[in-house]
Amino acid sequence: MGEYSAPILTVNNLNKHFGSGCDRCSNAEDRKLDKNYCPACHTVYSCQNIKFDLYPGEVLGIVGESGSGKSTLMQCLYFDQEVSSGEAYLQPYKEGGSNLFDESSQQKRYIRNHLMGKVYQNPVQGLRMRFSSIGNIAEKMIAAGNRNVGAMESRASELLNRVHIPVYRMKEAPKNFSGGMQQRVQIAKALSNNPPILLLDEVTTGLDLSVQANVLDLIKHLQKELKISMLLVSHDLGVIRMMADRTMVMLDGRVVEHGLTDQILEDPQHRYTQQLVHSLL
Ligand code: ADP
Ligand code: MG
Repeated sequence: MGEYSAPILTVNNLNKHFGSGCDRCSNAEDRKLDKNYCPACHTVYSCQNIKFDLYPGEVLGIVGESGSGKSTLMQCLYFDQEVSSGEAYLQPYKEGGSNLFDESSQQKRYIRNHLMGKVYQNPVQGLRMRFSSIGNIAEKMIAAGNRNVGAMESRASELLNRVHIPVYRMKEAPKNFSGGMQQRVQIAKALSNNPPILLLDEVTTGLDLSVQANVLDLIKHLQKELKISMLLVSHDLGVIRMMADRTMVMLDGRVVEHGLTDQILEDPQHRYTQQLVHSLL
């Protein structure tokens, strides 16, 4: 695996809070919170000092209970949310020499369209439900500067074929599709510009178990084939066990444990991780 190469993504001291803070909570060294929440001023500290590396071709799992900050972290990395502070360096962008969060909004759009793909838990966030599936994919390709309609159509059909959407349904809108199919269209869209990094936020949560297994299997296959790096978020340690090479465990906006997935499952260190692992047995 990637342990011997340089990280493709490095994140340092990423912080995101909602609210303006007060005397009680502004000092990161000793803030007195109720989980991630300041009861005095109602500020929510969703991500606190998050730090990790993602290596080429690796799947990094992020697990944690609801509200632990997983989605906020993914939103910050995809520029859906602005960070409160922090750094992220992407090897394929200026050779990792520029903090992405300091870039202009135009450059952020470039990064998001060329270097990343994202699959949302709720397909409504990732797709236009009334556009054709091919059109949904073309939209991301247009955002990356493509103009050749014929080429985009053939690339979109190739991608939809890869995620097992039958040819005769490709012009249909995702609103007509089952939950599992909608996620597969999102995956095709996210892959359309051949990004080196894919962000997946609870992509199988809410699907029937058999459909869930199908979608995870597809993601696993694509990952092996394309050697794409993935950040894969789930509240479900079973999903993480199946998918992730390494895992970080989040609780109340902080990373409380990280390491090889097998090691974490075998010998969890943090009390919260121990509970998670035991509930899996
Ligand atoms: P997870 O994905 O792990 O369930 P989230 O990242 O969605 O967690 O949420 C982390 C915390 O941030 C929660 O306490 C949530 O209420 C809070 N939060 C998320 N988005 C907002 C927002 N736009 N405004 C205020 N609080 C938010
Ligand atoms: Mg979430």
